[in-house]
Amino acid sequence: MTEKGLESAEKIRKLVGGSSYSYCYQCGACVGDCPAARHSAEFSPRKIIMMTMLGLEDELLTPDSIIWDCTNCYNCYERCPQDIHPIEVIIALKNLATRRGAVPDSYQRMTKVIHEQAASTSMTPTMERRRKELDLPDLYPPPLHEIRRLLEEV
Ligand code: SF4
Ligand code: SF4
Repeated sequence: MTEKGLESAEKIRKLVGGSSYSYCYQCGACVGDCPAARHSAEFSPRKIIMMTMLGLEDELLTPDSIIWDCTNCYNCYERCPQDIHPIEVIIALKNLATRRGAVPDSYQRMTKVIHEQAASTSMTPTMERRRKELDLPDLYPPPLHEIRRLLEEV
């Protein structure tokens, strides 16, 4: 690894909050049950852990980084024989990228919508009619002030 790579690896280790991911032996068990990996040839939690070990922050912490393809489903948390919890490393990387403002446009748009209406989608007449047909209960308006407070805190 180059000197810059070593420095970046150390920086990421501190920011991610530990180095447990260095025990990854690249077995790929986390990939086998990963829904994002099924839909993207580029995405792999195993690869993200390797890139983290190598300190490739310039590739990882960008708005078009593969980290944003992770669905936060936690399957890899269950599968890893080394208890590395790849999802927690990925969440830490997403938080780091967010602090740098390196967030995909789609995430920024979604955050704005949730901030405005406390929901990711608006109810349409078709959705309301379908809920009635399925005998589902009325939806209460989401607590806008609580959602905004949460968004502002994070
Ligand atoms: S399952 Fe764990 S040890 Fe195996 S590649 Fe994934 S993170 Fe590494
Ligand atoms: S949490 Fe992310 S990386 Fe882990 S299995 Fe789910 S989509 Fe894949």
